[in-house]
Amino acid sequence: MFTVDIHSHFFPKLSRSQGKLLDSNHGPWLEIRKNGKGMIMTGASEFRPVYDACWNAERRIEEMDRCGVDVQVVCATPLLFGYSKPPKIAHDWAEMINDMAVDLCSENSSRLKPMAQVPLQDVDLASRLVTKAKADGHVGVQIGNHVGDHDLDHPHLIEFLQHCAREDMPILVHPWDMLGNERMNGYMLKWLVAMPAETQLSILSLILSGAFEQLPMNLKICFAHGGGSFAYLLGRVDNAWEHRDIVRKDCPNVPSSYIDRFYVDSAVFSLEALRLLTDVMGDRRIMLGTDYPFPLGEKEMSSLLRSHPEFNESQKLRMLGLNASEFFSIDFH
Ligand SMILES: [Zn+2]
Repeated sequence: MFTVDIHSHFFPKLSRSQGKLLDSNHGPWLEIRKNGKGMIMTGASEFRPVYDACWNAERRIEEMDRCGVDVQVVCATPLLFGYSKPPKIAHDWAEMINDMAVDLCSENSSRLKPMAQVPLQDVDLASRLVTKAKADGHVGVQIGNHVGDHDLDHPHLIEFLQHCAREDMPILVHPWDMLGNERMNGYMLKWLVAMPAETQLSILSLILSGAFEQLPMNLKICFAHGGGSFAYLLGRVDNAWEHRDIVRKDCPNVPSSYIDRFYVDSAVFSLEALRLLTDVMGDRRIMLGTDYPFPLGEKEMSSLLRSHPEFNESQKLRMLGLNASEFFSIDFH
């Protein structure tokens, strides 16, 4: 069954001096260690252990073959966004990372598809770079779910989303820069609690602000990690909309009616959660996403979806690859 993983990351072989182009003290770079291991560094500090799938196309293909993944859409990690930096610096940085993504994917261009990043703090630069990235062969653009205190319903970000719709450039929204930082220092709580909340916040910011009313129907936008807490809490949101006018003041239709305006990936790591997600979103709105090759990703890529006892063949066909091939205009075979 044709299988496309729409949520995978790479981390290029950035030297420490290249990292300084973004931030002279805490710039991200890669320390390559023995036996195919590496450490993503921020300045002199260790950030995350990784292995060579982050920068080695051959290793990726080997693991995709093992798991039956035909195509991977490959994007950078949010650590590389640079949204808090001066726009010109972040723009030149994004261009460099985008070129590195193209280079990596060019090693097997039918199986690896690059997804760009942009300096989202500057809507004009970001929009221009989307246009360039599309011309350079990027199949989509990954954006963080917020820029500082601006959620996706901020006028500049809506302008950016409208630009992407005009360019027919698909968007993957990835949570990052998580809320509640000071209370989530241990146990990866930022990833386990705040990340799903960030994603839900972004989806609700588009729904409840009425932003979807300003966005064209052809906008292709997908939220990572199954949309975070969204599916589980949608009933709560609908109930609030029914009973409190402050919830529905900018949102003309019941929140659950907007689920046909966006997609989510399948990275929820449990059969029950994936069933709930499918019940809420429908099998046309879910695409395989693994978060490969990071430690919190799906180790046996696509196995959760592939092995689900309650999905029929046509549902699996859609969620494993057909939806993604339509979303990213990737040839289906
Ligand atoms: Zn991810």
